[in-house]
Amino acid sequence: MTTKNQAEEKTNSLNFIESIIENDIKNNKNEKRVHTRFPPEPNGYLHIGHAKSICLNFGLAKRFGGKCNLRFDDTNPTKEEVEYVDSIMEDVRWLGFEWDGDVHYASDYFDQLYLWAEKMILDGKAYVDDQTSEQIASQKGTPTVPGKESPFRNRTPKENLELFRKMRAGEYKDGEKILRAKIDMASSNMHMRDPIMYRIIHKEHHRTGNKWCIYPMYDFTHGQSDYIEGITHSVCTLEFEVHRPLYNWYLDQLIDTEYRPQQIEFARLNLSYTVMSKRKLLELVQNKYVSGWDDPRMPTVSGMRRRGYTPEAIRDFADRIGVAKRDNVIDVSLLEFCVREDLNKKADRLMAVIDPIKLVIENYPEGKMEMVSVENNPEDESRGSREMPFGKEIFIERSDFMEDAPNKFFRLTIGKEVRLKGAYIIKAERVIKDAEGKITEIQCTYDPESRSGSGSEASKRKVKATIHWVEASQAVPIVVRQYDRLFNHEDPGGQEDDFKNYLNKESLKTLTHCLAEPAIKNLKKQDRVQFQRQGYFCVDLDSSNETIIFNRTVTLKDDWAKLSSKND
Ligand code: ATP
Ligand code: MG
Repeated sequence: MTTKNQAEEKTNSLNFIESIIENDIKNNKNEKRVHTRFPPEPNGYLHIGHAKSICLNFGLAKRFGGKCNLRFDDTNPTKEEVEYVDSIMEDVRWLGFEWDGDVHYASDYFDQLYLWAEKMILDGKAYVDDQTSEQIASQKGTPTVPGKESPFRNRTPKENLELFRKMRAGEYKDGEKILRAKIDMASSNMHMRDPIMYRIIHKEHHRTGNKWCIYPMYDFTHGQSDYIEGITHSVCTLEFEVHRPLYNWYLDQLIDTEYRPQQIEFARLNLSYTVMSKRKLLELVQNKYVSGWDDPRMPTVSGMRRRGYTPEAIRDFADRIGVAKRDNVIDVSLLEFCVREDLNKKADRLMAVIDPIKLVIENYPEGKMEMVSVENNPEDESRGSREMPFGKEIFIERSDFMEDAPNKFFRLTIGKEVRLKGAYIIKAERVIKDAEGKITEIQCTYDPESRSGSGSEASKRKVKATIHWVEASQAVPIVVRQYDRLFNHEDPGGQEDDFKNYLNKESLKTLTHCLAEPAIKNLKKQDRVQFQRQGYFCVDLDSSNETIIFNRTVTLKDDWAKLSSKND
């Protein structure tokens, strides 16, 4: 795992993309301008991989005093929706970034792209093909075997223009005709074998309505959109490397200025125990394996937000993993580590008992109630302290007591002492059990002189353990959703069988009998806290005054690391 010091060094030295840009500026390229963009297709919610790309693109603009656009690559009306557009804008802003000027849409350029397509037809560089997509695919060849030329390849520009205009006018059905670039069916780059430029789709577009029934392919749109927006460094993931010659070829046919957007590829982020393809994430949502795109188990930005992750933690994670040129897999525990690091500084400590058992202090005066003071965040004194009620009956964590404890058990057991955090030292005397033999109550005595912070000798007395607790009469019932990894395989998407076979059936446990100290009533939705000794939690969006719901954001330690070292 990358250590904190290494990560700090990393942010101060240049990654390979920054070096390219620095060099470009030195050489006065594009009048020293730096203009990047983040170009999502609005066909799903953003995931942590997109967050990486956002941090990179917006980060580069910031570092070099440049600009970064947000552009929706909305060329396919069959899969795209306004809901996705809205969620993407919300997520980018939540991550802490603001795009330059207005949001851009590839669909803003449909008129220009259409004119460019006509120009290519007139120049003899594009033709209308009447074959079906299956026929065209069967003529593609393989990387080592040249493809076959279409029988329609040698139509005249005049005929092609007429047909293309009829395509636009709606005279053909979906799939009846397409427009292809006339490049080279024998090219060693499959993307150069007469790629499709336009297809017919009779479907309303979320922005252009019914104006068009032909839509440009992503490949015929992307490079030109970068060009139109004056993008200097078009940063994208490695799979687009093989598309680069095609983007350049299109621009060479259409543009005679010297300026070109420069495409630079980096390795996409892969996370262990996660799938990241939008198609797979959509499948999980549509088939209700999760409660929605923002289910706290999803690797989506909205899911992580709901779970309680902070934008700072995600940006820190993006920094630490850096920018790679080769595909690799990042351990999801690094992301969890970043979340923990950030919440440790920010989250106030509260007490909640997840699996409560009643504890009665026999020698504590009947009916007495006192307030004890506990600090809010030991990492941040300025957070101050709060008062907690203490009385004769309290609840502690069932796992903090053992009747027949082995020697190594340092928490509460008969005849042994522990300290109640912020309060007194208690000693267990006996237990009460129900008919099945299950413990229903622990009876204790306390040392009245031992109250924390009282300054007495007994208050300084060291005992083996300090445990958390809540006072019984004022405890607030809460529901806790305990999340675990959504998949139980390191690479669920990379197996022969269906990725859904690797869903972790234990990924959500809903615990309904938890109790918290009264201060939790002051929390608002999405507020984050540390429940002492339990982990970091955040108030869920479904929470209400009647039912207060907490999501477990992350445990205090990496349980999985512990598990695997045990197994070692
Ligand atoms: P998916 O494969 O999940 O469907 P995509 O690449 O099709 O993702 P886009 O909306 O086209 O999704 O992506 C927008 C931008 O985010 C692109 O520049 C893409 O390269 C980048 N991106 C997508 N996935 C990742 C990833 N895992 N790591 C880094 N960048 C990514
Ligand atoms: Mg894509």
